[in-house]
Formats: sequence, C-alpha cells, structure tokens
Amino acid sequence: MGSVVCSLDAELGWGFHDLEPLPAERVEAGRRGWSTMLELCEEFEIPATWAVVGHLMLESCDGIHEDHPAPEGWFERERTDWWDRPDLRFGRDLVDDLLQSSVDHEFASHSFSHVLFGAPSTDRELAVAELERSLELANQWGQHVDSFIYPRNDIGHRDVLAEFGLSAYRGTSPTYDGVRGLFDSTVRDQPMLVEPTVDKYDLVNVPASMFLFGFEGPARTVAESIWQDPMVLQAKRGIDEAVRNDGLFHMWLHPNNLTHPRDNRRMRAILEYLSRRRAETDLTVETMADVARRVRVPRGVDGGTVAADGGTMGDD
Ligand SMILES: [Zn+2]
Ligand SMILES: [Zn+2]
Repeated sequence: MGSVVCSLDAELGWGFHDLEPLPAERVEAGRRGWSTMLELCEEFEIPATWAVVGHLMLESCDGIHEDHPAPEGWFERERTDWWDRPDLRFGRDLVDDLLQSSVDHEFASHSFSHVLFGAPSTDRELAVAELERSLELANQWGQHVDSFIYPRNDIGHRDVLAEFGLSAYRGTSPTYDGVRGLFDSTVRDQPMLVEPTVDKYDLVNVPASMFLFGFEGPARTVAESIWQDPMVLQAKRGIDEAVRNDGLFHMWLHPNNLTHPRDNRRMRAILEYLSRRRAETDLTVETMADVARRVRVPRGVDGGTVAADGGTMGDD
C-alpha cells in the first residue's frame, strides 16, 4: 500500500534568528502560513507531522537563557531587534491551534532554539540540552514526542535522539533536493519515492522526497505564467508514484514558505490532489511516527530494512 507523509518545520522567528540579513518576507509569513496550513489540512483531512521549535511554547523568557549551553550570543536577537516581537519568539496560541485541530496531527520536535545539530560548535551537551528542554515543554503540554526534524536538515547527535526515546527523524532526500533542475529531465524523471530505514541507533530515518518550495524567484514566475506550477506537477507525480509502486512519498515545507497567495494555491492544489487520490485508491496518508511504527515493529521478522548507516545517506 502506498503512502504519503507531509512534514512541516514550525518555527516562526527561530528559523532565522541567527541569520543576517533577515529574509523579512519569510519571517513575517510564519504565523499566517501556520494558520493557513492548519486550515488546509482540516479542509482535506490530511494529518501531518508538525515539528515545533520548543521555545515557542514558553510563556515568556529573559532573552538570556543563562542555563542553556548555547554559544555566546545565540539568543541575542531576542534581546535586541526582537525584544518587542513576542509574536516571533513565542507561539503558544498557534501550538494550541495545532493540538486542538480536528485532524490528528503528529506533534514532533524541531529542537528548542533551532540549534544546528551537525555544526562542529554543537557539542553533545548542547544537543542534550536542546532535546531535554523540548521534551520537558512537550510533556507540560501533554505531548509525547516520537519524531525529530533537524533544523536545516543538519543531521547530528543521533545517539542523543535515541537516548531521549525518539523513534524517527527526517533524513535528507537521497535523489532530489527540490532545487536542482526541475527543467533538467535527468533530475526531474528520477523516482520520488523514499525508503525508510532503521539506523544503527534503532532510529527510523524517514527521508524527504521533496521540498515543496525549492523553486523560487523569477524562473518560477515565468514558468507559472506559461504552464502550471511545476512544484504542483512534481508533487502530483510523487503522489501517483506512491499509488503505483506501493511506496512512500515524503514532502515537506515550512509554514513560512507561504509568503504569497500563490503559495496557498500551491498547497491547496497539492493537498486537494492527495485527498482525491486517497479516496480513489488504497493510498494512505501517514505521519513520520506512523512510518516509524510500521518499519520498526516487524524488524527482524518480515520487514524493516536495516541500513548500514542510515544517517549519512543523502546530500546534505
Ligand atoms: Zn528566549
Ligand atoms: Zn527550521
């Protein structure tokens, strides 16, 4: 049976707080995009994996985080430019909306403060603190966390994930990064399906097939005025492949990718198509945790491919 996973990196300001200059449009789109995606998922009854930055669940903070072993200056933006922007630093209202949705979404973690786990400056102590703090907050909200999405897909410290009892993470796309050559047929015609694997830490790597907003700028505008949105066409192809080959298609995005009405239209078209194909065929929509459960349980019996080293595959 084929299935489709949709995962979202829900982060508001935290996806950008270490960047200079700030991509203002993306930063300001986070809240609206979050609500729009919740609405679309409800309209088409699509359960998704929402990886939430833990800091968003705080009521307030001092902008210092003295006890958190992050590098010097990591929280500086909170104390400066964003001191009067609690809407970028906190999102309890949006997390509430997510948890109260009529759709059974998966609540997952996107770390506490969007630390890059693969960076040399991120030592084990920091990785542990990021996990610990996120899970503590999730626990306060009555949430169990199964899945982790690495900030900027920067994979590292998988042993820490395992230590904290997580079961899945999103690996990088093995074949297709969504950016290179949608007009390049050698890339465009590659299979869009991915194979979840169990890594040496007994974590399930649920690799991404496709980033839904990897095709931007003037080229996109030109393409759209001539044909249909190429990302929609590509996502449809992934969904159809999942149906035809009984495989897994995993698409992902940030809510803040919805910066313009045309982005809402793209997501509506994709989710509408997914919902339609699910109705017409035996296709299912799964969360990352669902995938992890079915891949892990039969391990050693009749399934659950064991990769030599699941975390190093990909193109990051
Ligand atoms: Zn803070
Ligand atoms: Zn992120």
